[in-house]
This record gives sequence, structure tokens and C-alpha cells, in this order.
Amino acid sequence: MVIIYKNPNGDTRTAKKDASFKEFQEANDMHREDVKNVMNELALKIIINGALHDFTKKTKEELFYNNFLSTINNSTNFVDDEWYQYHISNEKHHPLSKCHDDITLLDILETIVDCVCAGMARSRDVRPIEINSEILEKALTNTTDMVKNMIEVKNSKL
Ligand SMILES: [Zn+2]
Repeated sequence: MVIIYKNPNGDTRTAKKDASFKEFQEANDMHREDVKNVMNELALKIIINGALHDFTKKTKEELFYNNFLSTINNSTNFVDDEWYQYHISNEKHHPLSKCHDDITLLDILETIVDCVCAGMARSRDVRPIEINSEILEKALTNTTDMVKNMIEVKNSKL
């Protein structure tokens, strides 16, 4: 949780009419600190996303392998198979296959990194990321709510 202290003096719409230069500077410093702190928290969340990426490949690795072989050898549909459905139900980085209600831009970032890494490792080529504006809108709204929920506003430092 990031604590933010109320201070209206850095914004023309909310500052008091006679704000001093010192109060103005104070407000600017506080705002810069607030944004830095929230960005730090978001960076930690990204680290967690990275650490957990494709965890379902490990939790059901044999099922993944069996479905993988079945697709290669028997032309079964990998996407309809049990492992992929388990994968997209428990991870949020395939929003076109399944868009989770709580998807955020951090998940979208994971989608981008996933596609680029996979493309580069397999063919040194990256296909356009498949996503749509509805998903992006939802992720934007959820990310805004998430950031709001990361912050607690207090009246003064005292
Ligand atoms: Zn995946």
C-alpha cells in the first residue's frame, strides 16, 4: 500500500490562490515521490507476473506433453484440448482465447513479451500481437482501479 498525503498545491485547478513558491515546490516533490512509489509497486507486480509466467506448463507438464504429442501425431486440436483450456483458465496472458474479468495492462505486457520471446526463439520473427480494443479498454479500466486500490490518502504527514 502506498500512502499519499493530500496536497492540492501542484495543480492550477486545485491550488490555493496565494500558494508560495515553497509550497509549490513541496507539492511538486510530493507528487514525484508518490508516482515513483506507485511505479515501484507496479514493477514488483511485473516481476511476479514474470516469475509465474506459464506456471501451468509445470503444474500439468505431462498433460501438456500428451496434448502436444497428440496434436503433432494425431492432428488433434491443441487449443480445444484439456491442457490449453486449463492454461487459459488459470493464466491471463492469452486474452483473445479467454479474457479474464480482472485483466490488467500488466497481463497485456506479459502477452507482448510472451509473443515476442516465442517468435524470436522459434523463427526470429514476431507476428503482430493479437488483441482488440475491447480487451485494451477493459485492461485500462482494471489497471486504473488497481492503482487506485494501491493508494491510501492521508490528510497530513503529522
Ligand atoms: Zn501461455
